[in-house]
This record gives sequence, C-alpha cells and structure tokens, in this order.
Amino acid sequence: MNLNNVMPWDAPAPEKAGRPSAFGLLPEDLKALGCPNDANHLFSLLQRPWAWKEGAPKLGKDNLAFLESVADLSLPGIDESIESLDGTRKLALTLSDGRRIETVHMPRVVKNARVTMCISSQVGCAMGCTFCATGAMGIQRNLSAGEIVGQVLSVMSALGPGTSSRLTLVFMGMGEPLHNLDHVHRAIHVLTHSAGLCIPARRITVSTSGLVSGIEKLAKLKPRPLLAISLNASSDTARSRTMPVNKVWNLEKLRAALDSWGLRSNEKFTFEYVLLAGENDTDEDADRLVAWLGALSKGHNLNLIPMNEHDASEFCEPAEARIQAFSDRLKSHGCFVTVRRSRGRDVNAACGQLVKR
Ligand code: SAH
Ligand code: SF4
Repeated sequence: MNLNNVMPWDAPAPEKAGRPSAFGLLPEDLKALGCPNDANHLFSLLQRPWAWKEGAPKLGKDNLAFLESVADLSLPGIDESIESLDGTRKLALTLSDGRRIETVHMPRVVKNARVTMCISSQVGCAMGCTFCATGAMGIQRNLSAGEIVGQVLSVMSALGPGTSSRLTLVFMGMGEPLHNLDHVHRAIHVLTHSAGLCIPARRITVSTSGLVSGIEKLAKLKPRPLLAISLNASSDTARSRTMPVNKVWNLEKLRAALDSWGLRSNEKFTFEYVLLAGENDTDEDADRLVAWLGALSKGHNLNLIPMNEHDASEFCEPAEARIQAFSDRLKSHGCFVTVRRSRGRDVNAACGQLVKR
C-alpha cells in the first residue's frame, strides 16, 4: 500500500456529462453558475428534504431549467432496506453509475426520537483492515460531495427525521473518510450551511483508521467535525497485523497527530476498539491501551465494539465474560467505556455486508 501515489480512485466521481451534482453545490457556486433567482433560496430548496414531494425537491420551472443545464439532479436511490428488531435500518443505495453504498438509519426508540445516520464516503475502502467486510471489497471509487450529501437527503426524505435538529451524522459507513478528504469536507460545508440542513459541526463525527496526513489537514479546516479514531490494537506489531495503515503511520505518529489537533474545551475524541477474540482482548492489551492514551485516557469516549463476524474474516467475537473483563479493566484505570453492540445485528452482520451480498 503506497498512499502517496496518485491512485485511480482519486479521480473525481463520474458525474453526469461532467456536470457536478446539484446537492454538493453551495449558494456561492449556484450564483457563479448563473442562478437566475436567489441562490440562497434555491440552495434551501435543494437541502431541506422535509419540504420535498415524492423524494425530490420542488424547484419551480425557472430553477429546474437552470439546474438541469448546469448540474446533475440525480439522487442516490434506496434499493434495499432491512429493518432490525431494534428499529435500525440498513439501507443499500445505488449511485448514478450503478455502484452501491450502505447507509444505516438508527432512531432512538422514543417518540420524536433523535436519529443517528451512519454514512459512507467511498465505494469500498483501500485500507485493507483484516477484520472489516468493506476492506475486503477493496476500493472502487470516492463519493463526490454531492453523493455524500445526497445519501443523507434521500434517506431523510424517506425515513426522517422531519427536522435536521434531531439528526446526528457519523462517517462510519463504507470507506476511509480522510482518504477522500476534499469531497468529505465540502460535504460537511454543505451539511452545516445555515440555509440548508444547518447541522452543527459538533454533531458530525468523522471516523478514521489513523490516516495521519488527513488528521493533520482536517485539524486546520473549518467547519471542523469531531474526530473518532479506530485503534483496534495496543501495540504496533499487533496493529500492523490487522491494520496496514499502521505500517505507514504507527501509534507514535498517530498520538502526535492527536496532540496537535488542538482540542477545544467542549470537544472530546472518540476511540473505537473492535474486540477480536484471542487477538487484542487481554488485560495486558487494556493496560497498554491506557498507557498509549496517556492523558487522553480520561475525559474521552472509549467504545468497545465486539467483532461483528462475517465470511470475509476469520476473527470472532470474544466470549461475554472476556468483553466484560476487558471493559472493567479499562474502567479501573478511570476510562469512560461503552460496549457498543453493533445495532441491527439480527438483519445483517457487519458493516459493508449488505452491499457485498
Ligand atoms: N474507515 C473508518 C470509518 C468506517 S469503519 C474507520 O475505520 O474508522 C467504522 C468502524 O467499524 C471502525 O471503528 C472499524 O474499526 C469498525 N469495524 C470494521 N469492521 C468491523 C467488524 N467486523 N466488527 C465490528 N466493527 C468493525
Ligand atoms: Fe476501511 Fe475502516 Fe474498514 Fe479499515 S475499518 S477497511 S479503514 S472501512
């Protein structure tokens, strides 16, 4: 894996006849393209799915003619939806070139609940983590900013919530978001814009496997989302075994990038740790993890995710007693730990499986 080379998937996503997706354009872009009416208003029409009719924005004749001449108005279409017992829906969405991505819609089970949407940034993933179903697919291509925003709008229009004030977004679907940072960041710009969904940046989390160059770049960008880091191992030897990215950016470089992030007083990191039976789940692993975290072991979120088993990986979920013991060990060091049973397990095992099938 050489992440410094220009890779074929760095090419922009194919968009109809070279036209950009209308859903990735900011008001200033619409204006520059010659919008005949108020560009802020047109942006609002595109970006507020609760006001749409039949899954598409109501634009009016003028706006429609303008947009059809300069942009691509197609949206990712939901072509498979499976609801699990806990209310989570796994959705497979088809893009304009027929490729598929996965989005997960997770309402909290109360009336007028908040919804967390887990969104994709790439078709497949280049990082090759050996426990991950998306990793086993390899990389097909990046999503464009318009496709990233389009998946949020399509799913909101079909399943809610009816207002964006109840929406939380996590880039934890298919792909490594920092491997497609330009499009991901433009999408965040659109999603946080006050004339559109207006989602506060602190309700958007970007999860990374530890692409240090991307963390350093994102640290300086505005609007800046929250950061989640997938650790999944407590030593370089072990981490390089399951996460090839660690051979390029090891735990020391990753730790240095987090120190340079410039965490604000109201910001926390989220650390994710997939528990793999017999691989990274001993008490010694827990102790090493705390040592690596150092000052970050307190006041941040540590999520333990028991391995979601699937055909593309040999790893198994540890026994319940081991999961508890690992969690207790971390708590004894003062960590704030949550064991995250992946939601929607009964409908489909792991992330990426719905699309691969
Ligand atoms: N590429 C990014 C975001 C997508 S993966 C990243 O790696 O952070 C989202 C999360 O799913 C990561 O924390 C990853 O470690 C976890 N994950 C991948 N495969 C899994 C599996 N089989 N079981 C449980 N979690 C898994
Ligand atoms: Fe890619 Fe994340 Fe899966 Fe690793 S865990 S292969 S970075 S999607």
